[in-house]
Amino acid sequence: MLSLVLALSASAVAFTAWRWWRPTPTVSAKIRSIKDVDLNWRCDAGHSFIAKGEAGDRQCGSCSQPAYAVTLFQCPQHGATEVAARFAAGADGVPRVSQYRVHEGIWSPATESVRCPQCGAPMFRKQADPLDALSRGKKKGG
Ligand SMILES: [Zn+2]
Ligand SMILES: [Zn+2]
Repeated sequence: MLSLVLALSASAVAFTAWRWWRPTPTVSAKIRSIKDVDLNWRCDAGHSFIAKGEAGDRQCGSCSQPAYAVTLFQCPQHGATEVAARFAAGADGVPRVSQYRVHEGIWSPATESVRCPQCGAPMFRKQADPLDALSRGKKKGG
């Protein structure tokens, strides 16, 4: 009889301990955005530098001209072309690429395919998106 009482109290202690140590509800992870990654930037005068992404234009530290994040797009026939990107905050407040510009051409919405300046064929993103890399790394861990 005594052993039964002991067993009962032991399980009660275990239950309390379980309640106590139960992990707190997971706080939703901080949304990673372009502000968390280093991007290549180039100004209209040709200076290049590395800085965190941000919505809106960034001023070149060397000449105060507007600078844009640059990435590489690939034409199947003509190879890689540097494309400038502009960011804008989406409905959720997270900045994303909103416009692309090939060379000194006009800005076009990021929803349209970026076309090769030589043949007009749609180009493919050559350089991996730093944000894609972030999500891939996160998935690997969990
Ligand atoms: Zn500059
Ligand atoms: Zn081409």
